[in-house]
Amino acid sequence: MIVDRQGRSFRSLRVSLTAACNYACTYCVPDGRRLVATSEELSAERLARCVALLVALGVERLRITGGEPLVSNKLEPFLDLISGLGIKDIALTSNGQLLAQRLPLLVRHGVRRLNISLDTLDA
Ligand code: SF4
Repeated sequence: MIVDRQGRSFRSLRVSLTAACNYACTYCVPDGRRLVATSEELSAERLARCVALLVALGVERLRITGGEPLVSNKLEPFLDLISGLGIKDIALTSNGQLLAQRLPLLVRHGVRRLNISLDTLDA
């Protein structure tokens, strides 16, 4: 288990699956340019390997973020790879645009909590 100098144990992990996003919110990208994935991003396999190592050290909760994780083609292989690790709580943060399309995949892989950033109800 990972414990800091104040005795707090490290149980929660946040993984940014990709820097890419299908939005360009002004508070996030003031220049209006869409966030894109870079060649330096870790593959689904490497990210899953890091998660597996940290689960072995006591991580129990995982939150998947971005950018926007639902735009990434790493999402499905990543979920496939971590699904057998015994993580108690897998959550995901999204802007919601692709949620209807991707929800079956999330449900199938045990994602039970979603944070939806909803800036407006005006399409
Ligand atoms: S949805 Fe999130 S990641 Fe995408 S541009 Fe807006 S604040 Fe940034």
